[in-house]
Amino acid sequence: MSVLAKHTQGKGGPDKIFRISGMAKARAAEVGKENIINATTGAFLDANGQLITMKTVEEVVKTIPFRDSAEYAPIEGTKGFVNAAIDGAFREYRPNGFIDGVATPGGTGGLHHSIYNYLEPGDTVLTMDRYWAAYKSICRECGRGFDTFVSFDENNKFNLPALKEKVEELLAKQDNLLYILNTPAHNPTGYSLSEEDMDGVLDVLKEAAKGGKNIILFLDVAYIDYAGEKEEVRKIFKKLSGLPANILTIVGYSMSKGFTLYGQRTGAMIGVSSSEEVIKEFADINQYTSRATWSNINRPAMRTLATIYNDAELLAAVCKERDDYYQMIKARADIFTQEAKECGLPMLPYVAGFFLSIPAKNPDAICEKLHEENIFAVPLAAGVRIAVCAVPVRKIKGMAAKVMAAWKAFEE
Ligand code: PLP
Repeated sequence: MSVLAKHTQGKGGPDKIFRISGMAKARAAEVGKENIINATTGAFLDANGQLITMKTVEEVVKTIPFRDSAEYAPIEGTKGFVNAAIDGAFREYRPNGFIDGVATPGGTGGLHHSIYNYLEPGDTVLTMDRYWAAYKSICRECGRGFDTFVSFDENNKFNLPALKEKVEELLAKQDNLLYILNTPAHNPTGYSLSEEDMDGVLDVLKEAAKGGKNIILFLDVAYIDYAGEKEEVRKIFKKLSGLPANILTIVGYSMSKGFTLYGQRTGAMIGVSSSEEVIKEFADINQYTSRATWSNINRPAMRTLATIYNDAELLAAVCKERDDYYQMIKARADIFTQEAKECGLPMLPYVAGFFLSIPAKNPDAICEKLHEENIFAVPLAAGVRIAVCAVPVRKIKGMAAKVMAAWKAFEE
C-alpha cells in the first residue's frame, strides 16, 4: 500500500553505491578487512581505511564558541563565509563581472536551486554521459528532465561536437538551457577540461546564446582542491569574464572534500554575470528558495571557512595538508593507470581526483565477477567506477590486472 501523492510514487529504493559498499563490509566481516578492496565509497580514506580529516580544520572548529555555533545563520550565509567561498573558489583567477554567492548545504544545494529556479517544469538538464547519479535524482525530484551527450569521442577527446548538437536540440525545445559541467577532477572519470576544451565549451554556448535564449552553465567544482596545481586548474575561471548577459555561470563550491567536512553540509552557489540585474536576481531568488526548503545552513562550518581565509597561516596550513593528500591520491591513481596500460585495460581519460572509470558495456556483470576476487566497485551506465580515494597503495597494486580479467570475460 502507498499513501504517497502520485507525483512521488515509484521513487526511492536503496542507493546503489551504499548497497555495494554494504556488501563489501559484509564480505570484510567474513574474510577480514585486509582481504577485500572496497573501491565504492566517495570519501577519502587513509591506508587503514579511516576517514581522512584535516588537523587544521579540526582545530579551527574547536575554537568556535558553542553559543555562536548554536545560533541561526543568515539565510544567504554569513558575509564572511560568502566572501571566503568566492576567494576559495577563484583565488587569483576571479572573473571580471558581477559576482555574488548564496550559502547552500554542500554543492548539492546549489544544484537543487539551479535546476529548480532556472528551468521550467518539464525542461531538460544537460550533462556528460558519465555523471554523478545525484544530478538525475535532483532533476526527477524537481520535475525536470535529464539528458546527456557522449562525453568523449573515439580518441578519448572531450566531445565538443556532441555537446553542440545537444545544446541546439534542447534550445529548440526550451527557453533556458542548464548545462552541468563537473570539472576539474570529474566524478566518475577524473577528467579535467583543458583550457582549450573550456574555450570550446564557451564558444558553443556563446554561439547558441546568439539566438536570444538563456544559458546557465553550472560549473560543479566539488573536487577542485584535489585537481592538481591549484593556480593552474583555476585558469578556466578567468574565461567566464565578459560573457553575454544571457549566459549566467553558477559555480557550485563545496567544503565537503576540500575541507573534509562532508557531514557538515556546507557550500555556496556563486553566480557570475556581466549583468548586475541578473546577479541581483540570482541572489534574491536563491535565498528565497533556501528559505522555502532548508532555511539557513551550518553556522560553525561557515565560520570555519571565514576564519581560515582571514588568516594567512591557517590557510597555508590547510593548503599544505591538502597538497599532501592530493599526492596520496595521485600515487594511487598513477599505479592503477600504469598497470592498466601494461595489461591493456581501457580507461577513460583520468587527470586527477577521487575516481577513475573503465568503459564497459556490461558493468554489472564485471562488478559481480570482481566480487569473486573480493573487489567491490560501482557499475555505472556504461562503465565501472573505481574510487581510488578509498583504496590504499598496497591494495591498488595488482588491481588493474584483476579488473582486466573480469573486463575480458564480458567485453571481448
Ligand atoms: N558534485 C559531484 C560530482 C560530487 O561527486 C559531489 C559529492 O559527492 C558533489 C557535487 C557535492 O557534494 P556535497 O553536496 O557534499 O558538497
